[in-house]
Amino acid sequence: MTGELGFETRAIHAAQPPDASTGAVIPAVHLATTYAQEAVGAHKGYDYSRTRNPTRATLEGTLAALEGATLGFCFASGMAAEDAVLRSLRPGDNLLIPNDAYGGTWRLIARVYGESGISHTPVDLTDAGAVDAAWQPSTKLVWIESPSNPLLRIADIEALAEVAHSHGGWCIVDNTFATPYLQQPLSLGADAVVHSATKYLGGHSDVVGGAVLTSDPDLAEHVAFIQNSAGAVPGPLDCYLVQRGLKTLAVRMDRQCANAAVIADFLSEHPAVGRVCYPGLSSHPGHDIAKRQMRDFGAMVSFVLKEGEEVALATAARTELFTLAESLGAVESLIEHPARMTHASVVSSPLAVDPGLLRLSVGLESVGDLVADLAQALG
Ligand code: PLP
Repeated sequence: MTGELGFETRAIHAAQPPDASTGAVIPAVHLATTYAQEAVGAHKGYDYSRTRNPTRATLEGTLAALEGATLGFCFASGMAAEDAVLRSLRPGDNLLIPNDAYGGTWRLIARVYGESGISHTPVDLTDAGAVDAAWQPSTKLVWIESPSNPLLRIADIEALAEVAHSHGGWCIVDNTFATPYLQQPLSLGADAVVHSATKYLGGHSDVVGGAVLTSDPDLAEHVAFIQNSAGAVPGPLDCYLVQRGLKTLAVRMDRQCANAAVIADFLSEHPAVGRVCYPGLSSHPGHDIAKRQMRDFGAMVSFVLKEGEEVALATAARTELFTLAESLGAVESLIEHPARMTHASVVSSPLAVDPGLLRLSVGLESVGDLVADLAQALG
């Protein structure tokens, strides 16, 4: 077939033709760590599984096809993927990060890279002018989350990529919340996309993984070198689980987004709720940008309880279908308290989150049951 295939078709077929020797319609899981060589250096493209593994290569090919990248690199976790990109920084360099970044990203940048003489500047990424103004001669890149974790803020990726490029820097997008189905940062000018594949890509809360996708040859060379040199690679079984999850990504996202929209409307009307963060609400400050750069508004919803932390904690303890747990993006709905859970590492930093905030990862259950569960928990 010719022409660009649709997203769903690529998710099921890109880089994964039926196995030539057996006809098997799903990619094989190659557990071998090493590969026979006919003569020294003469092999079929694989010599040692840290460097290259066929199951991983299949997943890397599919993910690259979904993000519109020329190359993909998979890692043992989202943090390992982030680390591979960040290792391009040198002592004295600076990077701009969202002022509501995921706590683990902040911890890696502030506590690990900060110790090595790499500075960071938290910026309001919803303001491209503020990003331009914060750019210093030593700044090498801007790190974007959109929608952000946990406040679901929307950054204008195209505008921020232009700012980064005008300074000769890189624009890196953590696309975990949106997934390539909802948003394609590379087509908006970003230089690389990173993922926690643990979330929507895997989609079933049963695998930890990460990925970097890029079409920039310098970035790709750097990430490939780190992947092989530092060796934070995923095992073949984990790659297979993400590969399987990808096949249903589009249908899962469609339903999860629809469920989230109903829940955001319900919370907006609830008297105990002070503020709802969901880019699909027309009152959301990033609504118009989200509409332009995303296919739909995602399935994460955050909200602030008017009465603050105690009521937030009690609400999170009372839900029955929304499991109180960290992580997100899978078929089951989750609730969490960012200030004490996913974002505990940013307490007392400029990124500290409102203790009255709760974050929902909306899953695939019947939406009426999810609304009823929140209604009883909010009382
Ligand atoms: N990026 C975002 C937006 C996340 O929410 C997370 C984890 O919650 C990560 C990166 C890190 O991914 P992982 O837990 O797979 O290392």
